[in-house]
Amino acid sequence: MKSKRIIIAIDGYSSTGKSTMAKWLARTIGYAYIDTGAMYRAVTLYCIENGLFNGDEVNLTALEQALPRIAITFEADDEGRTLTLLNGRNVEGEIRSMRVSDKVSVIAAIGFVRRDMVRQQQAMGREKGIVMDGRDIGTVVFPEAELKIFVTADAQVRAQRRYDELRGKGDDSITLEEVYRNVTERDRIDTTRAESPLRQAADAIVLDNSRLTIEEQNRWLLDHFNQCVIAGE
Ligand code: C5P
Repeated sequence: MKSKRIIIAIDGYSSTGKSTMAKWLARTIGYAYIDTGAMYRAVTLYCIENGLFNGDEVNLTALEQALPRIAITFEADDEGRTLTLLNGRNVEGEIRSMRVSDKVSVIAAIGFVRRDMVRQQQAMGREKGIVMDGRDIGTVVFPEAELKIFVTADAQVRAQRRYDELRGKGDDSITLEEVYRNVTERDRIDTTRAESPLRQAADAIVLDNSRLTIEEQNRWLLDHFNQCVIAGE
């Protein structure tokens, strides 16, 4: 018997490796994967490129008018990696840069931006068989998701991982302290904002991966997925 396809919501703090685990799980079980952080990052890049920021202030009227013209889509490259497109342009590299990371939580706190993104995310999950990662997936986007995972890890460990990743991509302009500040500041904004703040859904399972290897984490994920699917049959 073919098992029922479910929705898997992965939420948690910044730089806990949510995308890495969500991507791996989706590939392993043959589900679609959506990185909702990439959507907020693409809107942020649009605002930077179109002069909608004045320091950390956004021109809300201009952004609200521009929003219908901001098309965010995903595409796989030749090696099967997901690319984020902003109005048809590949922005996968740019949206991961610090200039976007520094401003993204400001954009993600805006109510009309969130409502628009959530609407698009819900449409993507209509067919189920999807792994989606973000901050509000289990609480707002898919409160009915069959499997909810809430990921956390020590902030110092998270900053070090993100720092190593940026250095690995050739960005040596950044210090570990700057990355630590960005990670903890994003956590602060994400958990204290009025619009769907980051919080653990009551029925989410917590994964603290501070001291887990990738292999241990993957086993944990697959075990929980299998248990969830068996329980639902
Ligand atoms: O997941 P990632 O770190 O790429 O997300 C970037 C930012 O987008 C987060 O710091 C958060 O402010 C915002 N975000 C959000 N809701 C989501 C996904 C991301 O508010 N579902």
